[in-house]
Amino acid sequence: MMKNFPRPNLVMSNCLELSACRYNGQLVRDGFVKKLSQHVNFIPVCPEVAVGLGVPRFPIRMVADGKDVRLIQPATSSDITDKMRQFSANFLSNLDEVDGFILKFRSPTCGLKEVRIYQKAEKSPAVGKGPGFFGGKVIEMFPGLAIEDEGRLRSLKIREHFLTKLFTHARFREMKKSGKIADLTGFHADCKFLLMAYSQKELNILGNLAANRDDKQIKMVFADYERHLNDAMAAPSKRSSNINVFTHILGYFSKQLSSNEKQFFLETVQLYREGRVPFTSALGLLKGWAIRFQEEYLMRQAFFNPFPVDLVEWTDAGRPIEL
Ligand code: SF4
Repeated sequence: MMKNFPRPNLVMSNCLELSACRYNGQLVRDGFVKKLSQHVNFIPVCPEVAVGLGVPRFPIRMVADGKDVRLIQPATSSDITDKMRQFSANFLSNLDEVDGFILKFRSPTCGLKEVRIYQKAEKSPAVGKGPGFFGGKVIEMFPGLAIEDEGRLRSLKIREHFLTKLFTHARFREMKKSGKIADLTGFHADCKFLLMAYSQKELNILGNLAANRDDKQIKMVFADYERHLNDAMAAPSKRSSNINVFTHILGYFSKQLSSNEKQFFLETVQLYREGRVPFTSALGLLKGWAIRFQEEYLMRQAFFNPFPVDLVEWTDAGRPIEL
């Protein structure tokens, strides 16, 4: 089974497990980020410290200003909107080889969405919600990447999708350094079932791009492929699509299985369809058969191992642990 994972480059809000840089001088403990440190390269950033606000500092908030929003530190009456806009644009445009972002939720700086916007700098009601200044710029500049806040990553489904996207992007980024079409074809072959689970339509487009029948310039082929790869993985895969992939994979050894084995597999798939067992129940059976029948092509599939397995934990009862 393919187990060599690339190390994704991940931009991280510095206050998440890395540094006590919050306004109150605290650090946010995060078990998932701790685990990630063994598998990814962090690019830490605290935009508020970077624009000179210091630790500890008076809190800042987003304040409505007609149709615009300003970033204000009420205790000092400072308006740091322009400084923060400038820092965000500079920092993000200088990033090289980045695969994803994990940002602190609810922060007027790092939040990705639904951060409160207040009526006034002084005590006043919230009049709306929106992305934080830095978080909003991240989404604007890197729309195709794996971007989440630590609040949403507590959901296992969101976390699995995030990790799949992050590690697939890192793998693609490493592969494209060779600039060889043969490596792209190999990448596509290994990701075939994973992509099929995400989007049959994009899988077909990606297959045509990797074949490069029109003999396009390699740089263009890689750029088009990357764009469609990001599109394919924009939303989590659906249960019905995963079942479709299970059925395709079963076809590789269905003649060699006993009718009891096949029956058991179909029952497991049915339980998965009804949401009564996890995705990994049916996947585990297929993995076992791929090993038993030495199906090299299947054993290389990213569908079986999209990211390091220890990044998602299960209790003995088979239920995911909320880290
Ligand atoms: S949320 Fe962002 S700006 Fe606020 S302390 Fe954390 S890293 Fe710094």
